[in-house]
Amino acid sequence: MSKILIRGAKVLGGEPQDVLIDGETIAEVGTGLSAEGAEVIEADGKVLLPGLVDLHTHLREPGREDSETVLTGTRAAASGGYTAVFAMANTFPVADTAGVVEQVWRLGKEHGYCDVQPIGAVTVGLEGRKLAELGAMHESAAGVTVFSDDGKCVDDAVIMRRALEYVKAFDGVVAQHAQEPRLTEGAQMNEGVVSAELGLGGWPAVAEESIIARDVLLAEHVGSRVHICHLSTAGSVEIVRWAKSRGIRVTAEVTPHHLLLTDELVRTYDPVYKVNPPLRTQRDVMALREALADGTIDIVATDHAPHPHEDKDCEWAAAAMGMVGLETALSVVQETMVDTGLLDWAGVADRMSAKPARIGGATGHGRPVSAGEPANLTLVDTAYRGQVDPAGFASRSRNTPYQGRELPGRVTHTWLRGKATLVDGKLT
Ligand SMILES: [Zn+2]
Repeated sequence: MSKILIRGAKVLGGEPQDVLIDGETIAEVGTGLSAEGAEVIEADGKVLLPGLVDLHTHLREPGREDSETVLTGTRAAASGGYTAVFAMANTFPVADTAGVVEQVWRLGKEHGYCDVQPIGAVTVGLEGRKLAELGAMHESAAGVTVFSDDGKCVDDAVIMRRALEYVKAFDGVVAQHAQEPRLTEGAQMNEGVVSAELGLGGWPAVAEESIIARDVLLAEHVGSRVHICHLSTAGSVEIVRWAKSRGIRVTAEVTPHHLLLTDELVRTYDPVYKVNPPLRTQRDVMALREALADGTIDIVATDHAPHPHEDKDCEWAAAAMGMVGLETALSVVQETMVDTGLLDWAGVADRMSAKPARIGGATGHGRPVSAGEPANLTLVDTAYRGQVDPAGFASRSRNTPYQGRELPGRVTHTWLRGKATLVDGKLT
């Protein structure tokens, strides 16, 4: 059956409407649509959004298939309401050649749970010394337009300048992991009151902010686009706000965990809270929420960073940095942004679908829910409240900071070009 009628869905949180999918496309949106020849999904007041787009996912394949694979990662994505993810380049081997990005792109196509758009490395081997083959990756079948050494900072200003100059030719973008390496040597957590009390190596806000300040100025000088990964401090927000007011072509993302959690959690010494950039203070959290609401921060990106338990269930200093996020992102955004009145569902669609699709050039994603558009959709039961149970995750990894925490909202259905990838909370 190729026709699906979603009956009584609050499109972007508005009044209930029916949405008819025919094949890969939305055929009609309206009230009292005929169900003839269609499979009917009773939405019953659930919220219908365009399929979410994640500009920052670590799928770990090739090389760390013990943490995640393209298959398990895209299943986790579909489960969280995503129809497209951008896969970071810090794999083994690094995605710094046309061959590796094409391999990841092809795996995404084969598995089909969501579209996978590879991100290419900026420098060979993420070593920060020599520019990778950006042009070859762009011209490959994967059509890479986003480049990042994420996990590491492109700290050499000349390399960063060259990368910005190079991608300008095809309107690509460099996504920077802003971390001044010398200022963060041995850093274990946010530098502040808590790090002083615990005696753990501090990660100062200025290590992030100084790189962002430099890079927005470089982007202005070159006239190119720069994207700042995972903003985590109030000061970073101020710099991006200033840069945007000058017309600099900068975009920025925030992770769900930086919208909710603070460095107070490190007092537990539970490495599940160890993440890069680190959890900051409540003041930072509030500044990030406000900036996402007013558009200074453009998007929410998960920084989904799966790790096997042996890399996380160890002492704090030895533990790997990162958290899984694809399957809880929308719930955390509902908790921190929607239920607080900072953003409505149309705003969520903008920050988690339309804008990330635009920044990364994900054609066919982040489109309006209207006739003629590709049927990339997600249905959310926003009235649901429940405890997070990682045992039910589709991800191969379980390193979530929300285990046992009650969060609102549950994605029940996801459609990728009209094909259901998630039905009643179960992957197809
Ligand atoms: Zn990063």
